[in-house]
Amino acid sequence: MAGIYIHIPFCKQACTYCDFHFSTSQQLRKPLIEALNKEILLRKHEVNEPIKSIYFGGGSPSILDKGEFESIAKTLETSFDLSELEEFTLESNPDDHSLEKLKLWEENGVNRLSIGIQSFIDRDLELMNRAHSSSEALACVQNARNAGFKKLTIDLIFGIPGQSMNEWQDNVEKALALNTEHLSAYALTIEPKTALAHQVAKGLVIEKNDEEVEAEYRFLHEAMDKAGFEHYEISNYAISGSRAVHNASYWSGEPYLGIGPAAHSFDGKKTRRWNVSNNALYIKAIRENQHFSSDEVLTKRERTNEQIMTGLRTIEGIPKTLLSFSEIRLPNHLIDAISQTKERVSIKPENWMMADSIIQEFFKE
Ligand code: SF4
Repeated sequence: MAGIYIHIPFCKQACTYCDFHFSTSQQLRKPLIEALNKEILLRKHEVNEPIKSIYFGGGSPSILDKGEFESIAKTLETSFDLSELEEFTLESNPDDHSLEKLKLWEENGVNRLSIGIQSFIDRDLELMNRAHSSSEALACVQNARNAGFKKLTIDLIFGIPGQSMNEWQDNVEKALALNTEHLSAYALTIEPKTALAHQVAKGLVIEKNDEEVEAEYRFLHEAMDKAGFEHYEISNYAISGSRAVHNASYWSGEPYLGIGPAAHSFDGKKTRRWNVSNNALYIKAIRENQHFSSDEVLTKRERTNEQIMTGLRTIEGIPKTLLSFSEIRLPNHLIDAISQTKERVSIKPENWMMADSIIQEFFKE
């Protein structure tokens, strides 16, 4: 079964580390939503099977007002077979958790919120230019529960410059106290051309070193394990039965349709497609029935390497049949980081921070 991703490319303000496609100008909101609805209608024939998951990402989908959100939800409902929909996730920011908005999402079928908390410390939130405060970070989960949401996941960032190990431990404890079913945690990366990269280059912000970041990762891994969460993918933790359905389909190679500027699609076989990353060009192309995306047909080798790369970031690992060699030979410092059965190989979760070096060794020549 397929998944649908909807990209909402608007945010209230620009987080300093972000290199996703978004705009803080709200000027093109109306024509963009119109274009997005039209793209759904233009491409609905690409999916001939029931939809398993819908994911509204961005940008900040929680920024949408009632009319905007309902129009997209309605177009999806009338365009696809949603009778077997398991998961409808919306990425939300803590400052958008008004009861009115939560009810709107819930009444339109959203059954899972992915909340971008990132940190419970105001100093971190200011450093990253997040739009919410620590008190909103603490209150947003309860607000969602009060509105009836049963599936919640929160995002945390580790490796934040200036944050001490004690503060990180406190952040993890606060996150656990919120009792969500799922948590995602990402190491802060300094992406080129972001505001954070400029601040680092000017010496205004000091990047954490690899050892500090790895220690925070290991603390999180152990704390989540003690709390009964399964660390099932490099950045994801879930209590039993609460793994992310939509994201898991990316890792397992299922087809998905990506709608909106910068959205990516995959046909489940070998063709990837990505829409233009520019709101004005996207709107113009859709209006004038012009091309708004590019395609790439993967070779067998490229597809195999993708499967190795995504599979080795999951607890299940990969079947050895994907490898082009029969015996795994790795440098000593890497061999202890993996585990193997006769059929499969995986990286031990506590060693996922070195996943990139191991994956390189496994790529098909
Ligand atoms: S809210 Fe999300 S998409 Fe928007 S700038 Fe911040 S990190 Fe990027």
